[in-house]
Amino acid sequence: MNTKLHVKTGDTVMVLSGKDKGKKGKVLNVNPAAGKVIVEGVSVASRHKKPRRQGETGGIVKQETPIYASKVQLVCPKCGKAARTGVKFLENGSKVKYCKKCNEMLDD
Ligand SMILES: [Zn+2]
Repeated sequence: MNTKLHVKTGDTVMVLSGKDKGKKGKVLNVNPAAGKVIVEGVSVASRHKKPRRQGETGGIVKQETPIYASKVQLVCPKCGKAARTGVKFLENGSKVKYCKKCNEMLDD
């Protein structure tokens, strides 16, 4: 099965719901099988890290945890707005993604 998410690694997205609602960040990783994405600075969990060796400092390690891709919306790189995307067909039959706000075609 070819599951594909509406966002990909490197896209900038905005969070639509949850405690990070309204936050924008870059997609660091996508997991199409789980339908989840990891977004920079979003859903950050703190883990306490103990020093394992002498001279190593312990502390809190912050790491993003995956969130559902359905909770994020692509921020259009052309107009900078969180936008719905649509798909249109070119004359040669190929499909392209476009921004419904500014109508610009987006690279896929
Ligand atoms: Zn746009």
